Amino acid sequence: MSDVTIKQLAKVLGLPVDRLLGQLAEAGMKFSDPEQVISSTEKVKLLGFLRRTHGKSEETAEAEDSSPRQITLKRRKVSELKVSTPGGRGAGGAKTVNVEVRAKRTYVKRSVIAEEAGADHEREDALRKLQESAQQREHEETERVDAERRRQDEARQREEAEQRRQEEAEQRRQQAAAEAEAAAARAAEEAAAAEREEARVEEPAQAAAEAQAPAQHKPAAAPPAPSVQKIDPKALGMILPRIHEPRRREKPVAAPAAAPAPAPAPAPAPAAAGATDARNKARPGGRDRDEGPGGKRFAAGELHLSEADRARRSKRGKPGKPGRNEPVRGGGSVAGTGAHGFSRPTAPVVREVVVGDANVVADLAQKMAVKGSEVVKALFKMGVMATINQTIDHDTAVLVIEELGHKAVAVSENNAEAALAAHTQNAELEGEKKPRPPVVTIMGHVDHGKTSTLDYIRRTKVASGEAGGITQHIGAYHVETPKGVITFLDTPGHAAFTSMRARGAQSTDIVVLVVAADDGVMPQTAEAVQHARAAKVPLIVALNKMDKSDANPDHVKQGLGNLEVIPEEWGGDTPFVPISAKTGMGIDDLLDAILVQAEVMELTAVEDGPASGVVIESSLDRGRGPVATVLVQQGTLKRGDFVVCGIEYGRMRALIDENGKTVQEAGPSIPVQVLGLSGVPESGDDFVVVADERLAREVAAERQLKRRETRMVSKANRLEDIMAQMGQGAEQQTLNILVKADVQGSVQALRESLSAIGNENVKVNVIAAGVGGITESDATLAAASKALVIGFNVRADASARKVIDTAGLDVRYFSIIYDVIDQVKQAASGLLGKEVREEIIGIAQVREVFRSSKFGAVAGCMVIEGTVKRSKPIRVLRDNTVVFQGELESLRRFKELVDEVRNGMECGIAVKQYNDVKVGDQIECFERIEVARTL
Ligand code: GDP
Ligand code: MG
Repeated sequence: MSDVTIKQLAKVLGLPVDRLLGQLAEAGMKFSDPEQVISSTEKVKLLGFLRRTHGKSEETAEAEDSSPRQITLKRRKVSELKVSTPGGRGAGGAKTVNVEVRAKRTYVKRSVIAEEAGADHEREDALRKLQESAQQREHEETERVDAERRRQDEARQREEAEQRRQEEAEQRRQQAAAEAEAAAARAAEEAAAAEREEARVEEPAQAAAEAQAPAQHKPAAAPPAPSVQKIDPKALGMILPRIHEPRRREKPVAAPAAAPAPAPAPAPAPAAAGATDARNKARPGGRDRDEGPGGKRFAAGELHLSEADRARRSKRGKPGKPGRNEPVRGGGSVAGTGAHGFSRPTAPVVREVVVGDANVVADLAQKMAVKGSEVVKALFKMGVMATINQTIDHDTAVLVIEELGHKAVAVSENNAEAALAAHTQNAELEGEKKPRPPVVTIMGHVDHGKTSTLDYIRRTKVASGEAGGITQHIGAYHVETPKGVITFLDTPGHAAFTSMRARGAQSTDIVVLVVAADDGVMPQTAEAVQHARAAKVPLIVALNKMDKSDANPDHVKQGLGNLEVIPEEWGGDTPFVPISAKTGMGIDDLLDAILVQAEVMELTAVEDGPASGVVIESSLDRGRGPVATVLVQQGTLKRGDFVVCGIEYGRMRALIDENGKTVQEAGPSIPVQVLGLSGVPESGDDFVVVADERLAREVAAERQLKRRETRMVSKANRLEDIMAQMGQGAEQQTLNILVKADVQGSVQALRESLSAIGNENVKVNVIAAGVGGITESDATLAAASKALVIGFNVRADASARKVIDTAGLDVRYFSIIYDVIDQVKQAASGLLGKEVREEIIGIAQVREVFRSSKFGAVAGCMVIEGTVKRSKPIRVLRDNTVVFQGELESLRRFKELVDEVRNGMECGIAVKQYNDVKVGDQIECFERIEVARTL
C-alpha cells in the first residue's frame, strides 16, 4: 500500500492519470511522472485538499475520519428460480431464471439527521407516503395469503380419510411453503424497505450537500464531485464516509420478488407467483402455470389421480422423482378425465419372435421391442460376443429371446421353400426309379494324363456319329458305350470338386484316379485319394502311360497301398486298370470297370417328373446372358420349364448338349447347358423345376435373403461343438481331423495315434493327413468335411487362411505330438480341462540377410502380423514349415535394441544358435497360453 505509483492509484480510482496529476498539482504536490510513488501522507493531503475544495474544512474531514457520519451496508443475494415453460403441459421443460436482490442499508449519525431534519419536510412527506404504501401492500399480501390458506383448508377438508397421510405430508409442505412465502414476502419487504431507506438517506445527503454548497463554497466547485465520489476509500487505505454513487439499478430477469414496485396494484401478482412457487416445489423460486386465482389445483377429486392419469404423469415427470406424481401437481383441466392417458402395463409383454437360421441382432431386438444394446448385453452375459449388426444362429437366438422373457417361434418364414420341398418330394415319391448312368470325375496328379485320357475317350466315344460337329467344352459330357452311358465331369481341380461337395452337392458317383505308371504316387495323388474318401466315393485307379518303357505299375500299387488303396488282386477293393491315353490301350477296360462299379452301386433315379440337379459350371455369355451347365440328377429337364437355381430363377429358353446341339430335354445324369436364368449361379448350386414362375421367383428371393444372412454364420465343427453335442447324450459323434505335418514320420505317428483315440462317445476320423503346409485344397476339404485342422510344425498359407476365415475352420498348431494327442483325447473324453494353446503373436518376414561377425546372420525383417517380442520364443518357417525353434538373440530397430516391434515396422532379428535364415523365411513369435476350455 505504501508503494503506490500515481499510475496505479489512478487505475484504482478509475481516474485518468492526467486528471489525478492535475489534482495533485492543485493540492500543491509536484508530480510529473505517473510512475512516481505516492506516499500515504501525500494521499491524505490530496484528500484533504479535495474535501476543502468541496466545501468541507480539513478539520471536519479529519474529524469525520475518526467517526464516520454514516455507514452503508450492502447486500447482494443471488438465487435461482425454476420456471416451467408456459408452452403447454406436454412440452415440459423448465427455464432457470437468476434473481439478484440488492439491498443497501445506510446508517447515518443522529446528529447529522438532526442537522438535516429541518431541511426536508417534503422528503418526510414522501417517505410517509412510501411507508403507507408499503404498509398497504403488506396488508394486502397478508390478506391474500389468508385467502389462499382458507382455500387450501377447504380443499383439505374435502379430502378423503384414507389419504390422510399424504395430506399431512402435503400440509407440512404447505406450511413450509407458507413459511417460505412469508420469508419471501419478508425478503421482498426488506428489499423494498432497504431501497426506500436508501432513497431516504441518499436524497437527504444530496439535498444537504446542495443546501450547504452555496452557503460555504463557490458553486463552481460542485462539478468535480463525481471524481471525488469515485475515489475508493480502501484504495486510499483509509476508512472514509461513504458517498453514494448514483444507484445503477440492474434489472433482474423476471424477478418478481425483486420488483417491489411502489404502485400497490401490480405488486401482489408477482409476489404471489413467487410465493406459490416456494410452496409448490419446496425450493426457492419456481412457478406453476397451473396456479391461478381460482386455485384449481386443489379442486375436489384431483388429489388422487386415476390410474391412467398417474401413468401419464409419471411419463411426463422426471423418472426417479415419485413425488412429482403426487396430488400436489394435480393437473387442473385434464385431471379427472384421464381420457388421453394410457395405462402403464402391469405385466411384462411377452412377444412371439420368429427365429430363422440366421438372425441379425438388431432385427431380433426390434421383434422383441427392446433396445439393440439390451440384446447385445444379454448375449454378452451368455458369453456370446456380437454387435448389433452381427448375425447369430438359431439356437443362440432362441436362448437370448428366452433370456429376455419372450417366446421364440420356429421358422415359418420359408413358405415358398417349404412349398418347393413338398413339391419336389411329391415328384420323387410318385416316379418310378430307373437305373441311371454313373457320373464320373477324373482326378490325379499334374501331367499324369487326365486330360489325355478324357480326350481319348471323347475322341473315340463321344457322339461318334457327329465327328465333324462343333464340340463345345461344357465341363461335362456323356459317352455311350455298347454297355451303357457314362457321364464325365471335367473339374479343374480337387479343390473345385470338394468345394462343390462343401455346398452339399454330391455330384460324383465314381472317381477315376489317374496315376502315371512311370511316376508313381505324387502329393496330388494322395490328395485326390483323401478327397474321394472324404466324399465316400468309390475309386478306380487308371495306371496310365503303360505304353512307356519305364512304366512300373507295381511301384504305383505299392505307393497307393501305403495310402490304403489296395488293388483287387492284392485282396483290396479298388480296381486297378492299366491304360495308355496315347495308344488307347485299356480304355475300354476302364469304361467297363466304371460300368461294373456303377452296376454294383445300383444307381437309380426317377426319370419322369420335374427335374432337379446341380450346377457344374456357369458363366456370363455376352450374347446369351447367363449360361449354366447343369447335371440333371432326378426327373427330366424340358425346354420351357421354370426353375429355381441357387438364388437365381428363370425359364429354360434353350437346352444345349455337349456337342452344341439344341435338345428338347435331358434326363438323369445327363449334363446340359441351359439359357434363360436371371443371373449366373455358382457351381455347386442346386436347381429344381417348379410349377410356375411366381413360386420360382419367391423361392429365389427368399434364398437370396437367406444366403446373405447365413454367409456370416460359421458352420464349421469346432472341437467344442463336438464336446457340447456329446454332453447332450447324442449318439456317437464323429470328429473329423485333417492333419498336416512337417515330415512323413510325424504324419504317420499322428494319424495312428489319433485314430486310436475314439471311444463310445466319439469316433476320431482322420480324413486326410499329409506333409507340408496347409493349402487351400486342405482347407476346402476340411470345410466340406467339417474337420478340425491340425498343423504340426506347419502353417496355413495365405490362400488357405482365406478359406479358414470364411469357413470358420478350427485350426490348431502344435509342435509336440503329445500335445496333439492329449488335446484330442481330452475332447474325446468330454473333459473340460485346461488347454495349452500356442498363440502366434507376431510374424516377421525376412527381407534381407546380413552377416555380422558379432551376431552371425542378422535378418532384416518386416513385421507383417501382430507384434514380435524379444522375450517370447520364436520359430523360423520356410514354406509354411517350421525349420527352427528357439529364441531371439537380439531385436533391433535402427541399431537400437528394442523389446518389441509392431506390425508394419522393419527390424533386425538375430536368432540364437541359428545362422541359416534365408530371404523369404518367416519368423514367428509365439507364446503358450493356458485356456480353460468351455462349452
Ligand atoms: P494332366 O495334367 O493330368 O491332364 O496330363 P495331360 O493329359 O496333360 O498329359 C501330360 C503329358 O503326358 C502330355 O504330354 C501327354 O502327351 C502325356 N501322356 C498322357 N498320357 C500318356 C500315355 O498314356 N502315354 C504317354 N507316353 N504319354 C502320355
Ligand atoms: Mg490337364
